Amino acid sequence: MPTKTLDLKKIRADFPILDSVINGKPLSYLDSAATSQKPLSVIKRMEKFMREENATVRRGLYSLSARSTKAFDEVRNQVAKFINAASSDEIIFTRGATESINLVASSLSRILLKAGDEILVSELEHHANIVPWQIATSQISAEPSQRAELAHKTNTQAIRVIPVLDNGELDQNAFDKLISSGRVKILALTHIANSTGSIIPVREMIAKAHKHGILVLIDGAQAIQHLRVDVQDLDADFYVFSGHKLYGPTGVGVLYGKRKLLEMMPPYHGGGEMIDRVSFEETTYGAIPYKFEAGTPPIAEVIGLGEAIKYIEEIGLENIHAHETELAEYALASLTEIEGLRVISNTIKGDFKAGKKASLISFVIDGVEAFDLGTLLNEHGIAIRVGHHCAQPVMKRYGVLASARVSVALYNTKEDIDRFITALKAVVRILK
Ligand code: PMP
Repeated sequence: MPTKTLDLKKIRADFPILDSVINGKPLSYLDSAATSQKPLSVIKRMEKFMREENATVRRGLYSLSARSTKAFDEVRNQVAKFINAASSDEIIFTRGATESINLVASSLSRILLKAGDEILVSELEHHANIVPWQIATSQISAEPSQRAELAHKTNTQAIRVIPVLDNGELDQNAFDKLISSGRVKILALTHIANSTGSIIPVREMIAKAHKHGILVLIDGAQAIQHLRVDVQDLDADFYVFSGHKLYGPTGVGVLYGKRKLLEMMPPYHGGGEMIDRVSFEETTYGAIPYKFEAGTPPIAEVIGLGEAIKYIEEIGLENIHAHETELAEYALASLTEIEGLRVISNTIKGDFKAGKKASLISFVIDGVEAFDLGTLLNEHGIAIRVGHHCAQPVMKRYGVLASARVSVALYNTKEDIDRFITALKAVVRILK
């Protein structure tokens, strides 16, 4: 439950970029689903690290290295606590959600999949939660001579898709049938869809999948910054997210995995720091999490991620979510008054408050090209995303090639929404 309303004046002062002037107009940044802006505390912490503490981790015996190792390890503990992992060993640092999913798809497929097995995804997935599974399954039991050709083709037998309904919910009847086939080994599911804002009832779906012995990966790239995530309560086998959508820097992400699975999985990358012993005859790998962290990790970025988590914990995720919900309902009310505007996945008044959708609205306007809309809005200082949002199957499902997407974060205000709506109306008048 939210405990306080956000002090927006104070919060906005923490994000200097929000004072930018774009094309002579104040910036309204409404594309946080793509990447969020960074608070000064994150910027300053990373700068301090690079100015005063920089050294590699786990390798040097000297004081600077001991200091950076300590700071780095603390963030692993902090992330574990943030998502309630049972242990910090279950937290792997990656470059982002994309790499986390690729790691699991590649590693798990090598020990789990055989011809005839299926991976289940939903029609709402971002490409990052489709393509790695296509790659992982494309070569199951392929002869070496076929592999180059097969690498470009989806093994359609191996990927099954849970359909999405008109209102952006997943078809749970179809899901029940699909998981009963006895062939599904892995379910890879988004927590919040980046193209519709649908909040997926992952807890219930994980429980059902587990009854059939199916492992579940949850793509939390759009959820971790809005909802309180408790991986043990969800009982997710894997949970992934990126630092840059969580007010942290780019170049760092997280893979949470249950210990017994991570221990059994082969490494994804090989190199320094992930080994126990190396010889030309045999290499033995280090323990988790190091087994999955070959090479020098993104140290400054991890430190920045830790500071970002600290920042949002101080404000409170529940308070952030309540603020974003109010803004999204406010934006939806104005958007739906615009003639010819269609909200992708039919988001209706109250969907945000009811916990069905979160933080973003994707829309098309009859007779208006999304790309023209984005370009002209930029002239008014409004930053929104237009395109297929790396979710082409979703766009196809709703019969469009591209949409405009407005997304909100903790620093957005009703003024941002008002400026956006005024500019949108002006732009539509020109384009129609
Ligand atoms: N999944 C979803 C739902 C996303 O929105 C994104 C980012 N747009 C990703 C995965 C991939 O995240 P990243 O590009 O940070 O690896």
